[in-house]
Amino acid sequence: MNRTAFYNRLDETLSGIRADGLWKHEHEIDSPQSGEISLGEAGTRINLCANNYLGLADDPEVIAAAKDSMDRLGHGMASVRFICGTTDEHRLLERDIASYLGTDAAITFAACFDANGAVFEPLLGADDAIVSDSLNHASIIDGVRLSKARRYRFATRDMDDLRTQLQAARAEGSGAILIVTDGVFSMDGYLADLAPICELADDFDALVMVDDCHATGLIGRDGRGTPSHFGVTDRVDIVTSTLGKALGGAMGGFVAARQPVVDLLRQRGRPYLFSNALSPAHVGGAREAIRIARTSDERRTRLMGHAARFRTAMNDAGFTLTGADHPIIPVMFGDAKIAVAMADRLMEMGVYVTPFSYPVVPHGQARIRTQMSAALTDAQLDTAIGAFVQAADDLGVDRSAR
Ligand SMILES: *Cc1c(COP(=O)(O)O)cnc(C)c1O
Repeated sequence: MNRTAFYNRLDETLSGIRADGLWKHEHEIDSPQSGEISLGEAGTRINLCANNYLGLADDPEVIAAAKDSMDRLGHGMASVRFICGTTDEHRLLERDIASYLGTDAAITFAACFDANGAVFEPLLGADDAIVSDSLNHASIIDGVRLSKARRYRFATRDMDDLRTQLQAARAEGSGAILIVTDGVFSMDGYLADLAPICELADDFDALVMVDDCHATGLIGRDGRGTPSHFGVTDRVDIVTSTLGKALGGAMGGFVAARQPVVDLLRQRGRPYLFSNALSPAHVGGAREAIRIARTSDERRTRLMGHAARFRTAMNDAGFTLTGADHPIIPVMFGDAKIAVAMADRLMEMGVYVTPFSYPVVPHGQARIRTQMSAALTDAQLDTAIGAFVQAADDLGVDRSAR
């Protein structure tokens, strides 16, 4: 293929994405992330689709801490960690994460995508096995691909299938077996069933890893995540998570685990060894976000109050919702065109939402995934609920369609 043909192929692919109605548009925001955001001349919108669960993205104390770190340590590290990119703040952040989540140690990465890309390959060899939930995040799927371990997949949250896959892994003579699950399935708003997963792990003497990106800071006691929520903190071997959602929403990811796991990742984790250290502002801001998250329930209480209020009102209005026990509340429409039309109408009415359809969710299960935030006020939430009802009426949408 010559260069012209190559570029023609890209054009065809791009046209195909447009023709399928799958083109992702990016709206420009000119305000901090919050309960209400500004789209410049297009005006403001009530925001129902940020991962800003605790409302810390524009928190003055978090910003001040980030500025302090930047003033003291500069804009960037211009180094990977092991060459000359480790400051006292990096070490303290890792200590804070470990003590917050109740693990021996933690190691930070540029993103949780990198944490998941780093974690499998150094820890597992060709005779070991990874048993992974079928709905796990893309970064887990990519990370698993990078390891030589045998791969098994269980139907999402299906404990019978998990047992079957564990039996297969054992029967085929696997060495170490690692069960991997998202702590929260972000398209559906369900928590993983960590208690039975850990029981099965005991039965098969397997390790357990949880990607807790949508739980750290908001689920469990003091926001310590799904292992805390289910009382299995001591049984979960590895937690990966992000600093880019509840904990300030900036950037950064981490692995929290026993000391030898963290030690080996520092020596062998490729996204750690070959990628830049987190910037001082990110580190300082994240430390303050963790301090706030672990010392007060106020934001979590508001967040969960909003989730209960929204769920009840939308249920009462006849909408079909999915998920449970989490501020991700998907509103189901089934048909992708209806979900898109609803989202467009809601945007016109001042409510920022995003429709999700195939291939992000299964065919015929299109939805608007709403996410609650402590940054939202009760009044904003009520306006948003009213807008959903009005938009459905305007468009003649059957609210109970699935
Ligand atoms: C958001 C998310 C990630 C990626 O986190 P980043 O820090 O943004 O790279 C990984 N896993 C899950 C389950 C997520 O929800």
